[in-house]
Amino acid sequence: MPELPEVEALAAFLRENAVGRVLTRADLAAVQAIKTFDPPLSALGGLEVTGAARHGKFLDLDVSGLHLVVHLARAGWLHWRTGLPPAPPKPGKGPLALRVHLAPLDSDPPAPGFDLTEQGTRKGLAIYVVRSPAEVPGIGRLGPDAMAVDREQFAALLAGRSGQLKGALTDQTLIAGVGNAYSDEILHAARLSPFKMADKLTDDEVIRLYDAMRAELTDALDRQLGQQAATMKGEKRSGLQVHARTGLPCPVCGDTVREVSFADTSLQYCPTCQTGGKPLADRRMSKLLR
Ligand SMILES: [Zn+2]
Repeated sequence: MPELPEVEALAAFLRENAVGRVLTRADLAAVQAIKTFDPPLSALGGLEVTGAARHGKFLDLDVSGLHLVVHLARAGWLHWRTGLPPAPPKPGKGPLALRVHLAPLDSDPPAPGFDLTEQGTRKGLAIYVVRSPAEVPGIGRLGPDAMAVDREQFAALLAGRSGQLKGALTDQTLIAGVGNAYSDEILHAARLSPFKMADKLTDDEVIRLYDAMRAELTDALDRQLGQQAATMKGEKRSGLQVHARTGLPCPVCGDTVREVSFADTSLQYCPTCQTGGKPLADRRMSKLLR
């Protein structure tokens, strides 16, 4: 799932390439993806793109005061294209959810634009056309942004939270922008167990976690900006130490990266770095054994 670094890199790409162009047309291909009806999608046509921003994991294109807001869900992506076919796409099957046409600038015909796509059969990509981003329910509920929260505020948020660190870091209403992949990386860099209780951290552990969060997100954002996110076919991460690396050696200590599975997700961690060498109980396994 695209998280803060990926979505921020897409917003940066749009600021550089879409802002200043007129949005000529938006063609909806996946009817279930759009969650609003007033203003209609067609209201964006003929208006200039004036900004692009990120709220948590939401991407926000400002089109002269109207906002095209997108949540990319698990497998969504924004793919910049030059020379889009003029004929409207056929709705229904395939990865295309929305195609946005932009006007060419004097020097660079043909007209560019972008596709919002979603791979896989479980469709979760969500599109909103609103007058203010805060009208999107998921944005209205966001906690402070992971790149904006300061250390004191971060400590206070964790102190007020009863529950495990993994859940706290990925709860968008507590801290916005971190998802499953980067929470694994942040906890590994901070040498903390994902199951440690958020309100039981020492001052030193809070500082380690905060510093790891900032460092991991900053490094990931630099890598995403470097590879021009929107020109990629989809989300592509590099430099991960534990996430999605079950069974491989930890780059820090050489121990084997392990996994805990849940109903529809999983987490990865290194026992030596994070849990004093002790493997965590896999709840799915323990349920089977009970
Ligand atoms: Zn390790």
